[in-house]
Amino acid sequence: MPYWWEPYVRAFIGGAQQLIAATGAQPTSYIRSVGHNEAVGGAVNSQHLLGTALDLVPAPGHSWAELQHAARAIGFGAVIDEKDHIHVQLFAAGVIPQWVYDELVGPGAPVEI
Ligand SMILES: [Zn+2]
Repeated sequence: MPYWWEPYVRAFIGGAQQLIAATGAQPTSYIRSVGHNEAVGGAVNSQHLLGTALDLVPAPGHSWAELQHAARAIGFGAVIDEKDHIHVQLFAAGVIPQWVYDELVGPGAPVEI
C-alpha cells in the first residue's frame, strides 16, 4: 500500500476499532482482493478494495439499529444496512477518484486479510 494512502487506512481503522470497542460488533469482511470482491458481489469501486470499508454484525443481544447509530456517531462517510451485515466506509460513495483505484488495486494492492 502506498505511503500516501496509509493515513486514510489508519484513520478508518481507528474509527472501526472505536466502533467495535463501543458495541462489541463482529467484523465479517475487511480488505478484499479484486477477485474476492467480485465473488461476493461487491461494487467495482468498493472501498473494501482500499482498506477503508468494513462489514460487521451486532454482538449477540444487540440490535442492528444500535450498531448503525453508534457507527453514525463516529462519523463514517457512509453507514449502510446491507440486511445481513452493516457496511461502514471512510468516504462517502463516489468521492474517491478513479486514479486512486488504479494506483491501489493493482500489483501493489493491499494484502487480503
Ligand atoms: Zn461492505
